[in-house]
Amino acid sequence: MSPADLRRGSFHFFPKKAPTMTTREELQAKYRAERDKRIRPEGAGQYITPTGRFAELFADTYAEPVARDAVTDDVEVAIVGAGFSGLVTGARLKQAGITDVRLIDRAGDVGGVWYWNRYPGAMCDTAAMVYLPLLEETGTMPSAKYVPGYEIFAHAQKIATTFSLYDNALLSTGINSITWEEDSKRWRFLTDRGDNFTAKFIALGTGPIAKPHLPGISGLEEFQGEMFHTSRWNYNYTGGDRYGAPMTKLGDKKVGIIGTGATGIQCVPPLARSAGELFVFQRTPSSIDVRNNHAIDPEWFATLPSGWQNEWLMNFTTLQTGGFTNEDLVKDGWTDISQRIRDRVVALVTERGEYTLEIQQEAYEASDDEKMEEIRARVETIVKDRETAEHLKPWYRQLCKRPCFHDEYLQAYNAPTVHLVDTDGQGVERIDATGAWVGGVHYDLDCLVLASGFEVGNEHTKESGFPIRGRDQLLTERWANGMETLHGLHVNGFPNMFIIGISQAANLVSNIPHNFLEAGATIASIVRHAHDTGASITEADPEAQAEWVALIESAGRSFFGNTECTPGYYNNEGKAMGRKEHMNSAGYPEGAVAYFTMMQQWRESGEFEGILFA
Ligand code: NDP
Repeated sequence: MSPADLRRGSFHFFPKKAPTMTTREELQAKYRAERDKRIRPEGAGQYITPTGRFAELFADTYAEPVARDAVTDDVEVAIVGAGFSGLVTGARLKQAGITDVRLIDRAGDVGGVWYWNRYPGAMCDTAAMVYLPLLEETGTMPSAKYVPGYEIFAHAQKIATTFSLYDNALLSTGINSITWEEDSKRWRFLTDRGDNFTAKFIALGTGPIAKPHLPGISGLEEFQGEMFHTSRWNYNYTGGDRYGAPMTKLGDKKVGIIGTGATGIQCVPPLARSAGELFVFQRTPSSIDVRNNHAIDPEWFATLPSGWQNEWLMNFTTLQTGGFTNEDLVKDGWTDISQRIRDRVVALVTERGEYTLEIQQEAYEASDDEKMEEIRARVETIVKDRETAEHLKPWYRQLCKRPCFHDEYLQAYNAPTVHLVDTDGQGVERIDATGAWVGGVHYDLDCLVLASGFEVGNEHTKESGFPIRGRDQLLTERWANGMETLHGLHVNGFPNMFIIGISQAANLVSNIPHNFLEAGATIASIVRHAHDTGASITEADPEAQAEWVALIESAGRSFFGNTECTPGYYNNEGKAMGRKEHMNSAGYPEGAVAYFTMMQQWRESGEFEGILFA
């Protein structure tokens, strides 16, 4: 790796170099032991897809479907999914003068994950200045550095209003199938509302973590108390609301929560304040770094120059992926570890006069050890009960799991009504009609909250998605051995179809909407070009696609593929990745900044290299 690679930020790997310090050896042995006891042979197969009785848990209880006639028209662009991917792409199309755009979503409104996830305490861990897309275009100032879920949902609605994306949208509408019709050069949509319409172009914004899944705990279906997943919070049962009103109906209730990931740690503080007793069932502790939220100063915000958000986006992405900039505009936990690694690399290169891979590894290990020591020390300073504090300490490298940031989560354990039930990496043993079993002890519960997360991956990489049939194949058949695309956006054999995602593209996980902003701009430029030239077909050139696929395939495994990490969805639950898993999750090998830069040049060249227009 060269210093240029370093600047591009290509160090998402886990070094293989043998540790040299005794303490590091001990630490690694501890990490390995903690990991090994969590490995499950079923890997991601341990989770339950909510079908049958569990399907009821995932109905849209937030909105009644609006009565409407079935639609049988033809639109220029149909966008599947009205979360940020669909909204941003719709906005980019409108900005490019393409007005005939239709959003389709199962949900009763736009917003995607921010429509569904209304659990108490929901907020975004990524700074709003970069997370909320199109702030300048919508004239929006975030209320704080990190904003609550309801503000993000309101912003999604504002994008839809600003760019007239509610016009023509089909909400509370599930897609049954999408089929390419060669004669008319159109995609035909059939939906669960009886719609039968066509679209010249389709864009798939179905989200990387859109489908909830349940923990594979025996007896889950036997529980007779109230049970819901965090993405369908039942405020009728708990009282309170998503805006922070206390959950007054929980005062005499014993509440259990399973899951201590990014969602679980956000719900625990409000639950701790409201529940008669709260039992937090923990399999693996999250790393909880400081939040340090603060309001945004309107006077300062007003001084930002036009174009500021794009600068902030690239600044955050550059620093977060290990590159260099003069200034850290966002300054938070996401950029902190990268900053430490960079500083160490610079110091070591200066000291030794050359850059080597060993320097990179040394800097990475030392920075991560230091960061994780701080995170474990923070637990001790906050949590008063020593045994509880010990169980809350994470023993893995920070990026093995999704890092979390909170200033009330650890504090919640100091309340006498809050009980950490640590399962020593094994998870809850069994559920029965009245509660949960751990270590042979039964915990009586009135209410069980499942903060068990989501299926990871593109809906169309799995059989569970709705069928999309291209010229002669289903997309799931085409991708039976893993995704194959050009730029993460196009698939040969599926003309006029775009994927709005992160895989085989920038793969920037710390700020997902940034991926969508760039994808939306690319899609808009292609549709505009087809519109202007009268092309009825745009399609990936098979040779260009094969080259891109080979590039993605040749990429080293990112931290997503690391089997030395404690299991989680970042690393395929600790199971080695085959080609399919690698192709479904890998990004552009040079990193997010290089991908965004390359795609911008690609768009601006106006040559659309690799795309065939007919
Ligand atoms: P996760 O998949 O991150 O967490 C699931 C949790 O359930 C884990 O703690 C897991 O334990 C636990 N679990 C699973 N099975 C069992 C079991 N049998 N017994 C006990 N515990 C079990 O889901 P989340 O909903 O927390 O987060 C999903 C993603 O959503 C995040 O990573 C993030 O990307 C996104 N998110 C983003 C937010 C933001 O700020 N932007 C906020 C919230 C979520 P284990 O760790 O051992 O596997």
